[in-house]
Amino acid sequence: VPKESMKKASTFQELRDIRTNLHGTFGLVPTMGALHAGHLSLVRRARAECANVGASIFVNPAQFGPGEDLSAYPRDLERDLALLEEAGVDLVWTPTAEMMYPAGFQSWITVEEVSRPLEGKCRPGHFRGVATVVAKLFNAFSPDRAYFGQKDAQQVVVIKRLVQDLNFPIQIVVCPTVREPDGLAMSSRNAYLSAEDRRSATVLYRALAAAEAEFRRGVSDPERLRTIMRSILHAEPRANVEYISIADPDSLIEVKELAGPVLLSLAVRLGKTRLIDNLLLGG
Ligand code: AMP
Repeated sequence: VPKESMKKASTFQELRDIRTNLHGTFGLVPTMGALHAGHLSLVRRARAECANVGASIFVNPAQFGPGEDLSAYPRDLERDLALLEEAGVDLVWTPTAEMMYPAGFQSWITVEEVSRPLEGKCRPGHFRGVATVVAKLFNAFSPDRAYFGQKDAQQVVVIKRLVQDLNFPIQIVVCPTVREPDGLAMSSRNAYLSAEDRRSATVLYRALAAAEAEFRRGVSDPERLRTIMRSILHAEPRANVEYISIADPDSLIEVKELAGPVLLSLAVRLGKTRLIDNLLLGG
């Protein structure tokens, strides 16, 4: 039996009209487009677990700061739609910024403590934009499950908090980070990297992997891991480190001792490109 082709909604009302007629479990994969194998792994997981799969493509202006890459962010809608259709998505929503934030919009969601460190510190207002748009996507799609990547570890913590605090009846499914063969985490922003940047970009995963090896040896002092990561990152003169963190995976507070699971995360600038990566250890 040939599969019915993917339905496309532009307005909120179009989305609701299509959604209402889809019965059975619904899985949502929110994206900003410029799709790669990481995004498609989320779709595949949703496809395996849900009767219906929806995706959104929306470059959310509210999660970009004033000097950030909103206008440069890669966009290729035709290619993205073909990839989603090929991956078996039933319904895709591609709202415009004007639909999402019409004149007069003034209701924002702030997830407080877990939004403050790490990305929240480097990118003020970022998680307010993320939490608000994700809440709007949840209301629009009414999914039973929503799929997010471990690549954006703090985003997962913020969204889990949002779902719990505001009683969204939605299960959050976290999918492993998909990497290039040399370890670089896939990201739409990797398209910004020059050939030279691309070679240097392996430094993030090399730093994390070296710290993981040390963790497995059973050290108790997180400063050991920090020193290892710092020395690998500093050996790459083109990398500018924004932060190195060894934190509790739930509270995101820096740990003083390696007893239980920890989240190693880092943000690095290579030229004009800002890259993040993380590993969850002992989880
Ligand atoms: P984005 O389009 O970058 O906002 O990402 C949409 C979703 O895909 C988010 O839940 C990301 O965490 C997830 N994602 C992005 N890159 C990867 C990756 N390399 N592996 C797994 N998930 C990813």
